[in-house]
Amino acid sequence: MALDAPDLPASRPHDQSFRIAVFPGDGIGAEITAPTLALLDAAVARIGGFALTPHACPAGAAHYRDLGVALPKASLEIARASDAVLLAAMGLPSVRYPDGTEIAPQLDLRVELGLYAGVRPIRAIPGVPTALADPRAAAMDFVILRESTEGLFASHGRGEVSPDRATETLVLTKTTSERLCRFGLKLAAERRRDGVSPGRATCVDKANVFRAFAWFREIFESAAARQKIETPEIAADAMYVDACALRMVTAPWELDVLIMENMFGDILSDLGAGLIGGMGYAPSADIGERHAVFQPCHGSAPDIVGTGRANPTAMILSGAMMLDWLGRRSRVAECRRSADLIRRSVDAAFSGGALRTCELGGDAGTKAVFDAVVLEIERLDV
Ligand code: ATP
Repeated sequence: MALDAPDLPASRPHDQSFRIAVFPGDGIGAEITAPTLALLDAAVARIGGFALTPHACPAGAAHYRDLGVALPKASLEIARASDAVLLAAMGLPSVRYPDGTEIAPQLDLRVELGLYAGVRPIRAIPGVPTALADPRAAAMDFVILRESTEGLFASHGRGEVSPDRATETLVLTKTTSERLCRFGLKLAAERRRDGVSPGRATCVDKANVFRAFAWFREIFESAAARQKIETPEIAADAMYVDACALRMVTAPWELDVLIMENMFGDILSDLGAGLIGGMGYAPSADIGERHAVFQPCHGSAPDIVGTGRANPTAMILSGAMMLDWLGRRSRVAECRRSADLIRRSVDAAFSGGALRTCELGGDAGTKAVFDAVVLEIERLDV
């Protein structure tokens, strides 16, 4: 799947062809985009039954530096008209707006496309060392569900700073909070159905200190009570965010779906990535009612650009999440089977521990990971 088709077709050639807006972005973005597209192609070829048509979307900090626009209208329109968006990484610490903040069009995309549900799976990959000595950490498989359009980030670009005072305002809305809680409860039910977990949704907040979070917890409890009618087997509980940070380190294998405000999710998802080997292993999805963006949790890692050391695993797994989402939405079983093949291939490539990426002290860079995963895509039973 090469990025050489800039014009969108007026309509889909047939029902099982999906238009994918691809944002390589900045830094290592382009380096991990090419192998990910190639692996998606390999999985699609192996399973068959549907096609992906990529459309390149320029955007990012380098684009802003060179052309004065971070997120061109044309790229946003392609994203809106596509079935899904695949994004690598955006932002460069050396390129900033006049107010000193970094260029982050991925945040604008979340707001523009209404992507309130940030899904951040924290799953230990067999053969990739976790940060914890306890052997139970190998069974770690939980999800941080980060609200992605409001919370403290609602204040992005609107903070007020005077010589003796600075303020940013956290905003939670009822509509988005209700949607997020429903999404999390349904996700817990789906994970139970898929045999991944017993099914538990946990509201993570700071309800003991802030009224806004006490209100958020009430919304979660009402949603849980309603969901109980449909899926009585799903457990629902709540935890303070500080206690959650501790649990993520002391007993992460007990966690399932953790539902939280934007800034809490921003911080805890990095902690989660650290648990499973680092940023290069943490995929994500930002999902709304109609659109979804899939991207690794990490940034553009300018410190390793051009060295070949970038780990593409998080982006590859984000691509698998995209196929899974397309498959559930469109009921194309082959999409979900392709997603499963990619995940199993990543697991098989790392299992045994011989493939050790650079950030974990090994010498496997982008190409070595690609070669190992593509071999499994071609080799594994489907
Ligand atoms: P952002 O603010 O956009 O999240 P950041 O600069 O805080 O980005 P990253 O760009 O994610 O953070 O990088 C943090 C560190 O992790 C860097 O030292 C970088 O080299 C390393 N890193 C990030 N992603 C990868 C990757 N895919 N492979 C290898 N190392 C990575």
